[in-house]
Amino acid sequence: MIRFEDLLEKVRAYSPDADVELLRRAYVFSAFEHRGQVRHSGEPYLIHPLAVADFLADMRLDAVAISAGLLHDTVEDTLTTIDRIRELFGPEVAHVVEGVTKISAISFSSSEERQAENFRKMLLAMVDDVRVILVKLADRLHNMRTLGHLPEERRLTIAQETRDIYAPIANRLGMSKVKNELEELSFRYLDPAAYEALRVSVDAKRRVTEGLIVGLKKTIAAKLAEAQVPIIEIDGRIKRLWSIQQKLRRQKIELEEVYDFIAMRIVTEAVKDCYAALGIIHQIWSPVPGRIKDFIAMPRPNGYQSLHTSVVSEHGTPFEVQIRTIEMHRMAEEGIAAHWKYKEGRIGDQRDERYFQWMRQLLEYQHGVRDPQEFIQNLKIDLYPEEVYTFTPKGQVKAFPRGATPIDFAYAIHTAVGQQCVGARVNGKMVPLRTLLKNGDIVEIVTSAGHKPSRDWLNFVVTSHARYEIKHFIRVEEKARARDLGRKVFDKEARRYDLNPRTLVEGDAFARSLADFSAQKADDVFAAIGYGKLSPRQVLAKLVPSDSLREKPPEGPVTAAVKRVLGTGEEKIKVHGFDDLMVFRARCCNPIRGEKIVGYITRGKGVSVHSATCPNVINLLYDPERRIEVEWDKSSGADAAARYTVTLTMEVEDRKGLLADVSAKIAGINTNIRNLEARTDEDQHARIDVTVEISDLKHLEKVMKSLRGIDGVLNVERAAR
Ligand code: MN
Repeated sequence: MIRFEDLLEKVRAYSPDADVELLRRAYVFSAFEHRGQVRHSGEPYLIHPLAVADFLADMRLDAVAISAGLLHDTVEDTLTTIDRIRELFGPEVAHVVEGVTKISAISFSSSEERQAENFRKMLLAMVDDVRVILVKLADRLHNMRTLGHLPEERRLTIAQETRDIYAPIANRLGMSKVKNELEELSFRYLDPAAYEALRVSVDAKRRVTEGLIVGLKKTIAAKLAEAQVPIIEIDGRIKRLWSIQQKLRRQKIELEEVYDFIAMRIVTEAVKDCYAALGIIHQIWSPVPGRIKDFIAMPRPNGYQSLHTSVVSEHGTPFEVQIRTIEMHRMAEEGIAAHWKYKEGRIGDQRDERYFQWMRQLLEYQHGVRDPQEFIQNLKIDLYPEEVYTFTPKGQVKAFPRGATPIDFAYAIHTAVGQQCVGARVNGKMVPLRTLLKNGDIVEIVTSAGHKPSRDWLNFVVTSHARYEIKHFIRVEEKARARDLGRKVFDKEARRYDLNPRTLVEGDAFARSLADFSAQKADDVFAAIGYGKLSPRQVLAKLVPSDSLREKPPEGPVTAAVKRVLGTGEEKIKVHGFDDLMVFRARCCNPIRGEKIVGYITRGKGVSVHSATCPNVINLLYDPERRIEVEWDKSSGADAAARYTVTLTMEVEDRKGLLADVSAKIAGINTNIRNLEARTDEDQHARIDVTVEISDLKHLEKVMKSLRGIDGVLNVERAAR
């Protein structure tokens, strides 16, 4: 068992001015919080955080990371809260502990490789401080080392997750030592029989092989010395069981046929020495063609640099040789951790250009590289700044561009899910559809059959798929609406001249006239009328000689019945005789029953109804072809219960009790107040905006009159929207 004092000693050795006080407090707190808890091995729980901290000290990390290592399980496994950690150990430690707790809460279960890759990306994207992932890897490493004590089912789950997620993450971060051990342990627990069989066979060869390695080392050292190539270290080892196992499987061969399970490593001072050593190796033994790899000139994506070659010894034994500088070696073993060395309080001073280069490469900054210094000072990483990773309720990972919303998510599941999306639950809570999704969110889409996409969605969706589908839907729907409207307007115009619209449309003249309107079919003509691009009169003129057009006495305007659709916030109107026609009250003037109104054919949205006094109507007159007559429906019982919201703006004296008088007065004439806002101007006057529910013009006039009668009210006006 690791003693805390030994851990302190280790930290002090590489960082004499480390914050020992912080470490000590973290240790004491962790010991207290975990008191009485035991691991599956029967040992006190504290062994685990201590081992994790010790591993972080081996990586020579800072006091924050090591303290976080000591505390990493306190929030998850004890009654402590993250706020308490922040209070006691400061925001930085708390941030790391919180990050570790968050990613530990997610468990991965899918055998699909693509899913695993998304999951890894998501985990990394959730991490905004490298130390979070380093603590997590240390945690996983110790858990894997002690996995044997767990029940089999847990063992398999954890080992599989380690192989699919954590070993590749260690690899991506260039930490090959950690990656190798995680892989080896996963192999041991996931396939114990194969592991054991391989271990026994390799062990049988071990003595011979180890003797061989000693001989090879001697030869290499002598030849390099002879050529005066400075060498720091020569090392030889039998390859890891997992890598031998993969070779067996890949090449479908038996162990007897695996020839190169020896790997020699030469560590040099400088890059030129690497190439010199390679030349000498090739002079001693013949290289296997096609096995020479120059990862110094062309580093691997995770930053790995080394020369690789395979040669055949004088005894006929092939083996691999890796040659690299001490710096490359450190990087190969420790990866990102090699750059996170202890620099108490002055991490921002790290200014090695090559370091940033490597870091940028590692972090896959393909677009818009940020200022590397700012980046390092904030100790933040954002591995995938353009992406966000979310889950379906079944645990499938869905990746999106940053800024994605539940609508994007819905369309990513299926176009039909997108079209019918009415709501979303994120992490179990209903959220607005324009909510930005965050890494790790579990998103559930609520659909309703027959629901349609809204134009408003275009303001916030970010995926091109969703955007395309929404636009497409709206275009098709608008066109259908324009076509229906156009057909009805045309029919009405025809009847005005006592003509049968159906006979006209089916006649030869109509077919001949299509080209004149650059239309393919009749519906295109109607759509053009509906959009207001053509007037029905223009069309009629093509079909019937103008001198034979005789107008019937007018049959009166279209009557409009107002129907409020509750809950949509938008009041819709239907026009009698124009059954499915979309007619709506214009938002600019919000006309109410009893007012003089005019209709106007919009481009694709139906007929808007304005108050005749609306200033916009003047503008509409520039395009008289699109004007259409409408009238409030007078049929008995039509929308007796209809209510329109109208906002009144009052200028009042700033006196006490006035607001109470206003609301009492409105209530007194059986009128509902929707909203009331008062504010004071500089000049002792105040303004009150009150939104009331009105049934018709008479009602509105009554309300306004009674408000004007209140003492202190200077003016009452209907607010323009
Ligand atoms: Mn742990």
